[in-house]
Amino acid sequence: MVIDKSQVMSTKAIKDKSERDRVSLQLEADKQCILCGKCMEVCPILAVTAKEELSPRAKYFLLQELAAGKQELSENKVKDLAGICLKCGRCADVCPQGLNVSGAIIGLKSRSPGWKAWIWGRLVKNLQLVYPLLYGWKKISQKIGGSRYNSLIGSGYEEIIPRFRIGSLEPVGEQKRAVLFPGCLSRYGALSWKNRAEEIIKRAGYSLLDMPDWNCCGFAVSRAGLLEDAEEMQQDNLDLWRSLDRPYIFVLCTTCLKGLREMAKNDLDWQGEQSIWIGSLVPVSSLLKYSEFEMLNTDRSLYLHRPCHAENRDWSVWKEIGLFEHTDTKEVNQCCGFGGCLQLEKPEIPELIARNYWNSRTCSDNEGQLLTECSACIMQLDRFKSANVQVSHWLDAVEFT
Ligand code: SF4
Ligand code: SF4
Repeated sequence: MVIDKSQVMSTKAIKDKSERDRVSLQLEADKQCILCGKCMEVCPILAVTAKEELSPRAKYFLLQELAAGKQELSENKVKDLAGICLKCGRCADVCPQGLNVSGAIIGLKSRSPGWKAWIWGRLVKNLQLVYPLLYGWKKISQKIGGSRYNSLIGSGYEEIIPRFRIGSLEPVGEQKRAVLFPGCLSRYGALSWKNRAEEIIKRAGYSLLDMPDWNCCGFAVSRAGLLEDAEEMQQDNLDLWRSLDRPYIFVLCTTCLKGLREMAKNDLDWQGEQSIWIGSLVPVSSLLKYSEFEMLNTDRSLYLHRPCHAENRDWSVWKEIGLFEHTDTKEVNQCCGFGGCLQLEKPEIPELIARNYWNSRTCSDNEGQLLTECSACIMQLDRFKSANVQVSHWLDAVEFT
């Protein structure tokens, strides 16, 4: 095999670049794979394809070979490697060695010659598929893109069965200043999420500021390997927050929340404020535990979909408010398969995972209703759902008294 030395990085070079890009390759000698197989149990791609070569462990060993210069690090090799991971993070969550395979892939993609032009080219050609995400990236009109997500962005919006009646809330906000980060989909399309979230924040006694001109959280952009573009967006948001004198930021999308928290690890103009930033980020759903809360329509089954990016400390609110005490209410902790730019690279895999999701025993009831709090999960699950299942953000199932 002819090795193009200019495209092969030594382990040290990869580590140096990794530090600069804040994406840890985590291929250090003290963090070796111990073949425990835990990542094999949770990888959604392995579950639907049964191809061990697509497993996190196989990717790890390939990355190791690349780092050691044993493989040709060609652009096509990187694209192939990058094209078979959802970046769901499930493997990293369970790995006892702390290996982060998807983080390593992001780092490699970002350094692959021509990758940026390639991925932007695919995005432009596939506007219909990904245009909700592009709201934040290019600030394009919602008129672009056809009707695929009409149920989410206005026209043809179906009436969601109300499940939660919210009365007054304890005034935990004590008139502290707060602002909403609605995320791209809510801001430019699903306006009801924004309006209902704002109502809950105000009822909890926060002094809600006018929404500033937020940029995208940068999560999907960074997972696509466009790290510099993501950091530009994040710096914009940091500057905005600082200009508002550091209010609380309420977030209604799980993945936006993860993206905003991850900012603190990046090399932005922080001025030592990372911990204040992290402390200012609050999921809107966390306020439910302070509300007069009543479940509605309990005769119809309800699934609460846990996004891959939901952290335990945030997700626990659904148990605290007693949601799962109702016999027909179930938590679904299974990947939807959205996968960000995997939709552009290998769309058959996200589709396979979503169809497997709906065919699984947990979700076979096609009369049910599924709620979640991640924009990407909603798009993916709505697209491949059975005819009679309602898929929406939980905010769309709220009724106020
Ligand atoms: S990030 Fe998700 S899809 Fe990618 S290798 Fe890990 S578990 Fe599999
Ligand atoms: S979980 Fe980590 S240590 Fe275990 S097989 Fe997977 S990569 Fe290796």
